[in-house]
Amino acid sequence: MVAGPDVYICDRCIREAAGIVRGDAPATDRSPPSRDRTGAPQMAPHEIKSALDAYVIGQDRAKKAMAVAVYNHYKRVDGDRYVPDYQDVELEKSNILLIGPTGTGKTLLAQTLARVLDVPFSISDATALTEAGYVGEDVESILSNLLRSCDFDVDAAERGIIYIDEVDKVARKAENASITRDVSGEGVQQALLKLLEGTEAGVPPKGGRKHPEQSLVTVDTRNILFICGGAFDGLGQIIARRLSSSSIGFFSDRDDKDRIDADDPAIFQHVEPDDLLKFGLIPELVGRLPAVTALNALSDDEMKRILTEPRNALVKQYQKLFAMDGIDLAFGDDALDAIVDRARTLGTGARGLRSVMEDVMLDIMFDVHPHAGVGSCRVTARTVRDNAPPLLDERKASA
Ligand code: ADP
Repeated sequence: MVAGPDVYICDRCIREAAGIVRGDAPATDRSPPSRDRTGAPQMAPHEIKSALDAYVIGQDRAKKAMAVAVYNHYKRVDGDRYVPDYQDVELEKSNILLIGPTGTGKTLLAQTLARVLDVPFSISDATALTEAGYVGEDVESILSNLLRSCDFDVDAAERGIIYIDEVDKVARKAENASITRDVSGEGVQQALLKLLEGTEAGVPPKGGRKHPEQSLVTVDTRNILFICGGAFDGLGQIIARRLSSSSIGFFSDRDDKDRIDADDPAIFQHVEPDDLLKFGLIPELVGRLPAVTALNALSDDEMKRILTEPRNALVKQYQKLFAMDGIDLAFGDDALDAIVDRARTLGTGARGLRSVMEDVMLDIMFDVHPHAGVGSCRVTARTVRDNAPPLLDERKASA
């Protein structure tokens, strides 16, 4: 302690006070250096999952698997700075493969993930790609899409997420085991492989085909997270065959064998890398997609929840549109069931909900508006099934 007239000050306070006089940052601000140099996410897996919950109904296992994969991915991206003792242990990149029927939320999951993490995101379709030198888009066009999504901020893009849809369509087919060149199959897989592994790719900023005079932007794909998705029709049979053959022998259990149903999407939960090879993905690509996750077919109850629960659920969107006209819009529970029933017949999963809803709402939106003096509108099951008019209430005089 240093004593003055009627006052004492300790050595630490003297140093701090001197710092303040010099204009240094306050000594208490000793927070650890932020890992978040370029906006990388700092969310724990359970936080990522509950953020996904606000937009994606069901698919709990897939959400968990993605939350963990993404958490580890960004750890890997920033890792070296944190655990110097493990400098020579290299964390491998963990791209994700989502398998599941159409309209079950594969694209939505990838898209929501990017939104939650606030990183650049783009969607590309594997079927549009061809091997370099053939008519079609070069694989690098995938990166042009990503660059475009973030106004060509290359640093941001290099930490982004890319969703590649219909990756099952570039599997080589066993039956065309190649006398002719496989333009859109194995060649594309090889090209994708390079991106997924991490490479410095020359990207034509406008996408499309590269040509010699074009200036290219270099994008390093090492820290880009790739999420591939596909319905993988026919994979169910491959898995079922493996499961049933492995149950032949002393320990075979007839009942169990009978329960294996190749058409039940739940069978995808048993997928193994070998099945993907048999399906026609090249081994290197399978190796680069270590986090394989299956999505379930949606139950009726989940379809109904999709109509009402997500942050921008269809019902909420229509209610907002009507509220802008001062009209209360309501859907009877039976009406929601009827919408789900109709959507089922389309066979496009939850995607069908939107087209059914648009069909149902078209006439209603045409007829029901404030100028018609309507104050509230209730959609019933009969409206959905038989196009019967909704139940209307007049606008109150004060409204
Ligand atoms: P796919 O699995 O074919 O990629 P999408 O993710 O594109 O399907 O889903 C199509 C639409 O269906 C989405 O835009 C979303 O509105 C809805 N949808 C599908 N699955 C879900 C889900 N699990 N939760 C909420 N909405 C969903």
